[in-house]
Amino acid sequence: MESVTHTGMDMGTELQKELDPLENARLQFEEAAARLKLDPSFLQIIKEPRRATIVKLPVHMDDGTFRVFTGYRVQHSIIRGPAKGGIRYHPDVTLEEVMALAAWMTWKCAVVGIPFGGGKGGIQCDPSKMSLGELERLTRRYTADMIDVIGPESDVPAPDVNTGEQTMAWIMDTYSMHARHTVTSVVTGKPLALGGSAGRREATGRGVLFCIREAAKRIGLNLKGAKVVVQGFGNVGSVAADLLAKDGARIVAVSDVHGGVQNPAGLDMPALLKHLAMTKSVAGFSGGKPIQGKAILEVPCDILIPAALENQITHANAGKIKARIIAEGANGPTTTRADKILNKAGVLVVPDILANSGGVTVSYFEWVQDRQGLFWREEEVNDRLEHIMVQAFHDVASMADEHKVSFRVAAFMLAIKRVVDAIQLRGVYA
Ligand code: NAD
Repeated sequence: MESVTHTGMDMGTELQKELDPLENARLQFEEAAARLKLDPSFLQIIKEPRRATIVKLPVHMDDGTFRVFTGYRVQHSIIRGPAKGGIRYHPDVTLEEVMALAAWMTWKCAVVGIPFGGGKGGIQCDPSKMSLGELERLTRRYTADMIDVIGPESDVPAPDVNTGEQTMAWIMDTYSMHARHTVTSVVTGKPLALGGSAGRREATGRGVLFCIREAAKRIGLNLKGAKVVVQGFGNVGSVAADLLAKDGARIVAVSDVHGGVQNPAGLDMPALLKHLAMTKSVAGFSGGKPIQGKAILEVPCDILIPAALENQITHANAGKIKARIIAEGANGPTTTRADKILNKAGVLVVPDILANSGGVTVSYFEWVQDRQGLFWREEEVNDRLEHIMVQAFHDVASMADEHKVSFRVAAFMLAIKRVVDAIQLRGVYA
């Protein structure tokens, strides 16, 4: 139990702790693991990452100087298969953050039952202040320094914050140059022309939709006319909103980093998407009233989709949320303290490791297609995704019902159990 103190300094420390991703990942793991009553020696194996690599990357800058960047790759687990997880470019990247994100990937892959472990990478840099050439040189140097760490059978990176298809193409090319032949399956999230998968771009938002459909059935909510709020209108948020609107839901508020817009009667999605395509933001859309900052999370609705950043729902605003379902499109949008408040209030929180696992699931399909050299139609990708997501939702729901726990605790319990079962079957090589 956290102690609650009221001096300014202690409140600061307490808040810092609440917002620390590694601390949240640890609390989530420990709560679920304690309920499973597993052999503690097995838990020791998965409590900490198996390997963390730190590299110093000298890069020639356009002005003729060179700068040294710090890069990380953490493999939390390779017990169920190669480590899998994105690479983030951000000035605030730390080893601790990458460790938390790598652990979440292990649990995410285990929840949906795809044969991967968990990994994550990051480079401390500010891509908004770098040229395309500098980013390419940084990416290639990172890949070259990680050549013995990554690989189709060992650790398969993907895009994350501020990295995308072009970054993956550079990694694939650099890795292939060293291997002396083209190795498409070393990364996922590649352009279609280089072995990417149909449906990958929409996969995370589509997976959020599949989870919401099942969650709505569970609480007896009719999606037709259901009110939906979406925070973050990028890849995940915009696709989820568009698909939900096509299911008959009313999107009553959306926001991005520049601002938001709300309309209780429902926003006109085709017009909003057109506005987004033209202005690169939802802010200023004429079909509703403006709304600023985190106030969007408190707009009355049936379904809330945080699809922007971590730590958006904290103890400070959790009690003001009116949604019946929260589907976490983003990674880590709800702190552990906030989670407890939401559970008490009876909100069904579909946790990130389930709700946004559509992305890694189609990354798995991409890896499979690259390895077999045969590519599937988009309908086939979507059908397979739906099958996996619906199954995972019901596996988590059964665990939640059996143990009378929240969906988050249930998802962690399911994932930890699957990883520990794999350790037991493999045995410990010593
Ligand atoms: P993106 O960059 O395409 O979109 C992010 C959106 O959030 C943008 O609209 C941005 O303007 C908005 N945003 C940023 N700060 C905000 C703020 N303070 N308030 C409101 N909106 C804000 O990124 P994405 O790929 O859609 O990822 C969103 C989240 O989903 C991240 O947490 C990411 O880790 C997670 N996620 C993404 C995938 C994927 O496949 N893309 C998979 C799993 C999880």
